[in-house]
Amino acid sequence: MPHTHQLEPERPFHLLDLPTQGKQFHPDRETAESEFKAYRKEFINLQSRLYAEGKQKLLIVLQAMDAGGKDGTIRSITRGVNPQGVRIHSFKVPSKEELAHDFLWRIHTVVPAKGMIGIFNRSQYEDVLVVRVHNIVPESVWQPRYEQINQFEKLLTDTGTTILKFFLHISPQEQKERFQARLDDPRKHWKFSVEDLEKRKYWNDYMAAYEEMLQRCTTPWAPWYVIPADQKWYRNLVITRTIVDTLNRMDPRYPEPEADLSGIIITE
Ligand code: ATP
Ligand code: MG
Repeated sequence: MPHTHQLEPERPFHLLDLPTQGKQFHPDRETAESEFKAYRKEFINLQSRLYAEGKQKLLIVLQAMDAGGKDGTIRSITRGVNPQGVRIHSFKVPSKEELAHDFLWRIHTVVPAKGMIGIFNRSQYEDVLVVRVHNIVPESVWQPRYEQINQFEKLLTDTGTTILKFFLHISPQEQKERFQARLDDPRKHWKFSVEDLEKRKYWNDYMAAYEEMLQRCTTPWAPWYVIPADQKWYRNLVITRTIVDTLNRMDPRYPEPEADLSGIIITE
């Protein structure tokens, strides 16, 4: 039984004790890569069924520290899927209009519709992470948000959405190496911002904020997965496998044809 890295509701844990290294769970990179490709094939198949069925919805939430691998994860899992059935949304610093509404407003407008898979690159969770660490709003405002998020996710799952939440867990050492690689390669400069270095100084505060939100927002209806993400090949494998397992449980079916088509032969 492979490790799922799923958190359990109400069970305490320390984020620092959770692994960032995937090597220990799957020492063989080459097999992992071929397993990943097989899962991706299955994913493409299941996505096609979900879209054709047009009833259920899947929401995938990705959170990570900078250079944690959200972009790479999205690229690797969506390769080959029918783009019509998948929507990716990146949540940046909120606009003036977004700030004039409650924090879930911009999220709710883009949750997946029937038959769709929605992927969130950052999410509602920024409002208890960056916002908390940098005191963008007072505690009296962010503290109730854990429960507000849980209730919001309950509404979504009660109305036919399955939710998967992945935290890509990297070590500070790995982040340092990825930042350096971005600095050393002119083609990666666009991915780097000096703000990333500023945020890196708050690593421990971020870990504390992540730990609390993972603890408080792991619910029976929308659990968090803490994915060891220092090795991309392991990260890609576990995430794709988890999505495939979930879609298999959702078991989308191609709809029955409107009439019996078996005897029809097109003659001209
Ligand atoms: P990423 O780092 O996700 O790959 P990016 O570097 O292309 O994206 P950024 O301009 O860094 O894009 O956009 C994300 C930034 O917006 C992050 O610093 C993130 O913390 C911030 N952000 C997202 N949501 C919020 C929010 N609700 N309040 C404040 N800041 C937010
Ligand atoms: Mg960034």
